[in-house]
Amino acid sequence: MAKDAGKLDKIVLEARRNAEKRAQGYRAQALKLFPWVCGRCARTFDHKNLQLLEVHHKNSNHDDNPPDGSNWELLCTYCHEHEHSKLKDSMGRDDGRQAEEAATHSPFANLKDLLKKKT
Ligand SMILES: [Zn+2]
Ligand SMILES: [Zn+2]
Repeated sequence: MAKDAGKLDKIVLEARRNAEKRAQGYRAQALKLFPWVCGRCARTFDHKNLQLLEVHHKNSNHDDNPPDGSNWELLCTYCHEHEHSKLKDSMGRDDGRQAEEAATHSPFANLKDLLKKKT
């Protein structure tokens, strides 16, 4: 069991390393393809602040990296953050609400049952 977990750790670590390598690859490629301008706020970048310019995946699939750049968009780190918080909001809010309801409603339901039994 412990051995398997160690093996899994290695696989995960390796996959992560590969993903990082690939990320550096497509970022460099995107920076070659596109002008260094944020696609949202139109802020321009140069070598001094280039680390703030990030590659966004239009279909949010980080494994989808066509070499012509059709799935990439250069966004500054702020707009990129905003873009992802929008995505998380629209997709994650229902889950959050359900979890909240499950956490708050079920104890009260139990409480009602308990009260009913008592009276
Ligand atoms: Zn921006
Ligand atoms: Zn992104």
